[in-house]
Amino acid sequence: MPELAMRFGPYGGRYVPETVISALDELGEAYLRYRGDADFVRELNGLLDTYVGRPTPLYLAERLGARYGIDRLYLKREDLCHTGAHKINNALGQVLLAQRMGKRRIIAETGAGQHGVATATASALFGMSCCVYMGRTDMERQRLNVIRMKMLGAEVRPVDSGTGTLKHATSEAIRDWVTNVAETHYVIGSAVGPAPYPEIVADLQSVIGRETRAQMLAVEGRLPGSAVACVGGGSNAIGMFRGFLSDPDVQLIGVEAAGDGVETGRHGASLGHGKPGVLHGSLSYLLQDAEGQVAEAHSISAGLDYPGVGPEHSYLRDIGRVRYESVTDLDALAAFTALSQSEGIIPALETAHALALVGRQAAELNALGPVVVCLSGRGDKDVDQAGAALGINA
Ligand SMILES: *Cc1c(COP(=O)(O)O)cnc(C)c1O
Repeated sequence: MPELAMRFGPYGGRYVPETVISALDELGEAYLRYRGDADFVRELNGLLDTYVGRPTPLYLAERLGARYGIDRLYLKREDLCHTGAHKINNALGQVLLAQRMGKRRIIAETGAGQHGVATATASALFGMSCCVYMGRTDMERQRLNVIRMKMLGAEVRPVDSGTGTLKHATSEAIRDWVTNVAETHYVIGSAVGPAPYPEIVADLQSVIGRETRAQMLAVEGRLPGSAVACVGGGSNAIGMFRGFLSDPDVQLIGVEAAGDGVETGRHGASLGHGKPGVLHGSLSYLLQDAEGQVAEAHSISAGLDYPGVGPEHSYLRDIGRVRYESVTDLDALAAFTALSQSEGIIPALETAHALALVGRQAAELNALGPVVVCLSGRGDKDVDQAGAALGINA
């Protein structure tokens, strides 16, 4: 196996305190070693099958396709993974790796709580202690996931600094890791952070694209014309895109949060409207104010409410291999309702952004052939918020 990528073009790298460098090296070496270790691979693949529920189905959404004017619209059903989203693919792989590395303590950051729940789940499975950092504001917005994490035996540590959201929770988790690095593994929740995290997370999520590719060939006898995924930090998107990066005929589209509309400045479109800068240990596109300070992101979906993005996406944007678009809260809500009522699948609000883009550009995408959307997660976590926005109450 080749070395793990340190940079993607100019992006990525390690902008971290000296004390963490050796831990990052240790992590990279361990990942390379166990990725090639038959026991490790067998155990991980076995759990992906029997615990997570892989392979996830590739579902032909005929009614939503008809509504949007798309002949063959496929949904890659990551929402059917145990815990309800793709995040478990990464959390499980990293916690298994931590166990092999002899670590006894797991920490993580979480925004909406999905990554926290996935990490608490994997930690329970391996009998590890687990501490999840979560902004106070997010804890109030996502009560259900806070309770789930506690039920799974994790400690949830509230973060009061800043706006009490994901950016601040991530900073606290990094601080903890710097202090306790010997016995602690930090499970980053997306394809972000200092090298080699973006590469490890992308590799663990690339099962999405690998399965999709094989499933498309089996049912359609061809590759999709396009593959679409929402982009927060970018892990479900890179997992899907890696299945098709070397197929130039497959159009790849990442969808960021336009929040209230990019013209209002209240959005999360780092690739569309940010500038390169350093956040959480790596260089990538980043929302910044006029002074170069990291700006707050805004989105109805907590999972896309992050001012940064994984470095590989910055590279794929610059070289033009992936197109990045954005979708407003309102359009995402309309797509949330469209999928719920035409297919009986309530998607996560994050995922609804990808669906909305497909609806908006249906004619163009349909002309390219079958369309695949990464259905990154289910919407149970979002019923309060989406219900309030849509005026639906019990
Ligand atoms: C966390 C989350 C996202 C955003 O994270 P990525 O790393 O960009 O994939 C998207 N969809 C769902 C369902 C999530 O839980």
